[in-house]
Amino acid sequence: RIAILCVGDELLKGATVNTNLAAIGRRLLAMGVVPVAAMEVPDTEHGIVSGLETLLSQAEIVVTTGGLGPTADDATKEYVARRLGLRLEEDGEAALGIQRYWRMRHPHEEIPHRAYNQALVPQGAIVLPNECGTAPGLILEHQSLEGADDRTIILLPGPPGEMKPMFDRVVAPYLRERLTNRLSACEFRIAGLGESVVEDRMLPELARTPSLSAAYCASPQCVRLFLTSPRADVMPGAVAAVRRIFADELASTARCPFIPIGINYSSYWSLKSWDAFQIPKPWAKITLIIGDKIDVPENLDDVQFEEYRLRFENALKRVSMVEPEENAAQTNGEKRK
Ligand code: ATP
Repeated sequence: RIAILCVGDELLKGATVNTNLAAIGRRLLAMGVVPVAAMEVPDTEHGIVSGLETLLSQAEIVVTTGGLGPTADDATKEYVARRLGLRLEEDGEAALGIQRYWRMRHPHEEIPHRAYNQALVPQGAIVLPNECGTAPGLILEHQSLEGADDRTIILLPGPPGEMKPMFDRVVAPYLRERLTNRLSACEFRIAGLGESVVEDRMLPELARTPSLSAAYCASPQCVRLFLTSPRADVMPGAVAAVRRIFADELASTARCPFIPIGINYSSYWSLKSWDAFQIPKPWAKITLIIGDKIDVPENLDDVQFEEYRLRFENALKRVSMVEPEENAAQTNGEKRK
């Protein structure tokens, strides 16, 4: 069983929408797992520790997001380590990663000493490199708390732009190996029908297959239909049935080619926001970087489809992280400027 703990005053105040919970939930569902519980807690020691204790009493694995950064209110790691009785020690690789990332983003600024707090990790932790930021993620295995033994706690950074790539690259493969009792899951997007019509049309198929569950989620563009079953063998039949029932309405994944596009500036102002938002300065050279087209073949299975999704995400990351000089060398002409 797995549970999610999202840390941050801003979540409780409604200042930030908890998209991390949705992002993790979707990724877990794609792996056939539905979390048993989720909580939002403030940045305080009491909030984090009591949230952790509650969730560890219900789940063997707890994933936390937020509070790993360098500022005083980012103390998830410290509070969790203290509660588990683990010392913090510096991780050399993490310190190097912090230096590398800082030099790339702020080449003319000294690295503030507090940035190195992020390289302190609880003893025995598996350190997850952060390729899109400075705070590494952490996995604490074989922990015991309040009579709950052999628990795993996975600490991830709060900014979604850091949390999601880290989850996809390291946490998802880690969990895939460990989670048993996985559900088979499948999602469809059905256009042009209301939620209740979708539900009505599904009823005979659900009555015929008792182990199959359906959930519906309406949006202005389509109705998303989620099918889950603990029995993998019923899924192919269920998928064929959905394709038959909604033959005219399935906005099935279009399989159109994807083209990753990024923008870069030769000089810019960088805001002190979590994503270091950039605004080009007047007369800056603006470069449009267009990556290679990615064709998605038909009939991919879930694992292959996920590989293509990751390939596209990485291609997007590549085009948005190329340095301007590198672009100039690559573009070698006026066309892309
Ligand atoms: P940082 O290094 O940026 O301080 P952090 O790991 O300490 O990272 P937080 O300080 O808790 O993370 O959050 C940083 C930003 O990430 C928040 O301002 C918010 O915009 C975003 N964020 C945090 N948690 C979530 C969440 N659950 N859903 C969506 N966005 C979030």
